[in-house]
Amino acid sequence: MGQSMEARYLPILPREFRSIPQLAKFDDAALNEMGVVARVLPFKANHYVVNELIDWDKAPDDPIFALLFPHREMLSARHFSELQTLIQAGASDDQVRLAVHRIRRELNPHPGEQVQNNVPLLDGSRVEGLQHKYRETVLFFPKAGQTCHAYCTFCFRWPQFVEDSSMRMALADSEMLVQYLRRHEEVTDLLVTGGDPLTMTTRRLATYLDPFLGSDLEHVQNIRIGTKALSFWPSRFVSDDDADDLMRLFERLTSAGRHVAVMAHFNHPVELSTNVVRRAISRIASTGAQIRSQSPVLRHINDDPAIWSSMWKEQVRLGIHPYYMFVARDTGARRRFDLSLERALQVYQEAVRNVSGLARTARGPSMSTSAGKIEIQGITTVGREKVFLLSFIQARNPEWVRQPFFAQFDENASWFDDLKPAGGERQFFFQMPSS
Ligand SMILES: *Cc1c(COP(=O)(O)O)cnc(C)c1O
Ligand code: SF4
Repeated sequence: MGQSMEARYLPILPREFRSIPQLAKFDDAALNEMGVVARVLPFKANHYVVNELIDWDKAPDDPIFALLFPHREMLSARHFSELQTLIQAGASDDQVRLAVHRIRRELNPHPGEQVQNNVPLLDGSRVEGLQHKYRETVLFFPKAGQTCHAYCTFCFRWPQFVEDSSMRMALADSEMLVQYLRRHEEVTDLLVTGGDPLTMTTRRLATYLDPFLGSDLEHVQNIRIGTKALSFWPSRFVSDDDADDLMRLFERLTSAGRHVAVMAHFNHPVELSTNVVRRAISRIASTGAQIRSQSPVLRHINDDPAIWSSMWKEQVRLGIHPYYMFVARDTGARRRFDLSLERALQVYQEAVRNVSGLARTARGPSMSTSAGKIEIQGITTVGREKVFLLSFIQARNPEWVRQPFFAQFDENASWFDDLKPAGGERQFFFQMPSS
């Protein structure tokens, strides 16, 4: 590429939106609205997403524009007008910062209590930067990988991209990771995540992953890397200075018998359409690594079965395994993107009916709750009661996995917390006090 970092990344600061030439089509009022929202929620774009993925003739309705740029509906009407009034009245930086801080706190920054609940212990002390929620899989948040090549407006990890350090997840070094996993032979999967761990240099990533070539960590068979770089910065795998080194790292791991899974985040088929992403996909495949795909279902971006079925078909054609469809978590800008559970299920079912079995590997729609990943399997009637049929794909207690259970049907429900048990029960089976 030969471009410096400054040239590649467009500014995070809202007042510099105007440096993106394509935004000239919006008037001042629209730009100011974006600026108000960007005080609260993170914004970051780069030349690739702006020039290659957004169809500017369709903006602001273009799905990738909606995925990247702030919109007033991301805040409640009350929060938005409060902040806009403050800014327009020329309030001091401190006053604005205080208001912003309070609004962020009211946006449910830590859904599912994952920060408090899932940090494991090593000799009695917390191993910050790890999460061990499901028996077989440990999540690792390397310190240098807690940013992304651009930011998704719907991101549930948004608090770590804004400056309040109290909202950030703490981070570990590789020595603690290795020590913890040596003692946990039940762990078969390491999931390196962020942010986007592929914002790290290959050299740094290798310091975390090369220890897994050793025989003391042979039980960790699967090394997963959660990333949106295929969408946001595919040159990471093709032409960045250390792209070849990254391919060599994948090869070292696959040659040592590890399964390397790139857990790719794709929201829309347009992200699969450029020459560089296709080149990146085939380079990854040539290392023996596999790519699996996951995405939330989101209003304004992909709430249409035709988008999902064409995305899954294209992924299968390119050698990517469709893996998860998520329901967006109840945090941050979700008010703009959420849809009812009934609609999410309809999108999933219609999409899955229009693809062959090779693309029906996608599971969902799935809600990541503090108890586990709950899949909405269908809507049916039991006796005379209309119900959602639910089951855990993943659970804090492995005994709960794939036990079907029912919730009262509710056409307005958009998250698990909105649901009540069916059949007059007071609690769901996994909420009963254990005897
Ligand atoms: C989704 C998830 C995993 C991985 O689950 P799989 O079903 O094995 O893909 C692991 N840990 C946490 C906390 C998760 O949310
Ligand atoms: S790439 Fe992932 S972590 Fe980064 S902003 Fe998007 S959803 Fe969030």
